[in-house]
Amino acid sequence: MNKIIKDRKKTKKIFVGDVDIGGYAPVRVQSMTNTETTNIKDTVTQIKGLEEVGCEIIRVAVNTEEAASAIRSIKKEISIPLIADIHFNHRLAVLAAKNGADGIRINPGNIGGPDKLDMIISTCKDKDIPIRIGVNSGSLEKKLLKKHHGPTPSAMVESALNWISYFEQRNFFNLKVSLKSSSVEDTIAAYLEFSKKSDYPVHIGVTEAGPLIRGTVKSSVGLGLILSHGIGDTIRVSLTGDPKTEIKVAYEILRSLGLRYRGPDIISCPTCGRTKIDILKIVNEVEEFIKNIKTNFKIAIMGCVVNGPGEAREADIGLAGGEDLGVIFKKGKVIKKIYGQDKLIQEFKLEIENFIKERGERA
Ligand code: SF4
Repeated sequence: MNKIIKDRKKTKKIFVGDVDIGGYAPVRVQSMTNTETTNIKDTVTQIKGLEEVGCEIIRVAVNTEEAASAIRSIKKEISIPLIADIHFNHRLAVLAAKNGADGIRINPGNIGGPDKLDMIISTCKDKDIPIRIGVNSGSLEKKLLKKHHGPTPSAMVESALNWISYFEQRNFFNLKVSLKSSSVEDTIAAYLEFSKKSDYPVHIGVTEAGPLIRGTVKSSVGLGLILSHGIGDTIRVSLTGDPKTEIKVAYEILRSLGLRYRGPDIISCPTCGRTKIDILKIVNEVEEFIKNIKTNFKIAIMGCVVNGPGEAREADIGLAGGEDLGVIFKKGKVIKKIYGQDKLIQEFKLEIENFIKERGERA
């Protein structure tokens, strides 16, 4: 039988700071700040918050010389590598690299010609930092648009391959590629085609994804489909709002495909007419309780004694709540029978805490 989730493609390995990307490294989770980069205090605070929830690489917008210079101060305060996101202005890319950026993201087509692009390449070579070639369907070269009758996935792939060969001719191989289209279907098609033709690592994302529910669904479907083909070395979920949510969604996408696990998984019943306890309350309390736990194990919270015990037994720690009586399972065995919902929640949290302690962590 054909595997639905394909083995990961082995791409060339590169490093952004000390984080390895490609070559079977874990799919790296990144985000982008939404503070003004020149506001060093707010930017650092946001990045530190993102580090706490598992962000491994951060990208900041560099749209002025002041923003490029701010990188030096920001870098002193943070522990994860920082990528400078540049459009149109080669001087900003050069300045960002000189100020300690761990990587540069550009769209080579909008930098203003070969001389300017070559200045970026030579600075990044000196600094030994990678460049992400960000191909965008909205700004493809005219000759490719004509050849492919529009900004098709094949046109995007050809553009990326042309840029790769431009960089390689200048002995620059420290590259990562992204292919961006406003259509999710075209984005997927472009990554699939690119992956057949190149071994460079790719950053995947569905841009301008939208508000929480819409954006999460679009990203999950779009990124999930690409990842299911074994493609994707770094990932960004784009959501309007607090970027911490992007990180949480990214890890859940990776978890659902069995690619990465960060923190416990909670399985809870959707509730129905048989539900005898306040599942939502218990789920919210447990979620809050485990929010800083980084290791992976399975918690089940089920609302009845009909289907509940099955799931609860499968989990590392499970709860199946009856009318008055609730049952707590650990590794498939009933360890406690509790009367009363408040007591049940307390005891359940206690058992989760014990389980976490046994694994050498603290809740
Ligand atoms: Fe309903 Fe029980 Fe299933 Fe929850 S586990 S949805 S309460 S049947």
